[in-house]
Amino acid sequence: MPDQQLFTPSSLPSPLSLSLRGRGGKTRPAHHMHPIYTLHPGHTPLLISMPHVGTQLPADQRPRYTPRALEVEDTDWFLDRLYSFAGALGATLLVPKYSRYLVDLNRAPDNAPMYPGQNNTELCPTRHFSGDALYQPGQAPDEAEVQRRVATYWQPYHQALQKQLQQLKAQHGHAVLFDAHSIHSTLPWLFEGTLPHMNLGTANGNSCAPGLQQAVVDVFAAQAGYSHVLNGRFKGGYITRQYGRPGAGVHAVQLEMTFSAYMEETAPYRWHPQRAAAVTPVLQRLVQALVQWRPAP
Ligand SMILES: [Zn+2]
Repeated sequence: MPDQQLFTPSSLPSPLSLSLRGRGGKTRPAHHMHPIYTLHPGHTPLLISMPHVGTQLPADQRPRYTPRALEVEDTDWFLDRLYSFAGALGATLLVPKYSRYLVDLNRAPDNAPMYPGQNNTELCPTRHFSGDALYQPGQAPDEAEVQRRVATYWQPYHQALQKQLQQLKAQHGHAVLFDAHSIHSTLPWLFEGTLPHMNLGTANGNSCAPGLQQAVVDVFAAQAGYSHVLNGRFKGGYITRQYGRPGAGVHAVQLEMTFSAYMEETAPYRWHPQRAAAVTPVLQRLVQALVQWRPAP
């Protein structure tokens, strides 16, 4: 959908915290609205980040893109809707507003390639996952514009992520970070063949305790409806690798799920009610496992 809002760093409204009256008249935190994300606070050690769910492009940047790019086809569609049950299970949710086509929140700010030696999209992507150009000729962002996007859109998301992880650790003794993604099951420019439905990533076992990795693998091993792999083509992106520090009490797991598990895989990329209803109980068991897991004493 078009974004008519235009702002610069100096005109960013300050973050706004809202409160709701809970039962018994007690005030409980509702959501925290920042210009580039919404934070839904929880009450367990689990934080769910969904860095590619945003669909908006700022009005001042839209003219640079091709008409196809403005449709933001490489969005991790509907993940906020799919994981909306997680708030009731006590998870904190961090939901960005802007498209990965502006700046990719799951890439290093120095633009280091995610998977060296393979085709990758960049910090400020210049291509669709099909390999086709995102920008009108000559309109790709220069280094100064890339840095502006990092400062304006990338940094605030990561500051919020870091602050939440610190708070969860302080409150609970440990934090669990679940980085939720979804993707088309076939993308020849990025990978061969068809992906399994569920692609778990733990940076080859480095981003979380072995017990947590086992707990999430067990969830998928206990069902037969969805194929799954651990540390296959998708091993965990920048967020999983950067913040998953099991020795420091922060445990990160990424799930890259195929669109085919819950939606239509072709434009206009519609939500598929029957598929979504079928996969939701599996995702609920996954989130429950992430909430309930405790580090070995
Ligand atoms: Zn993603």
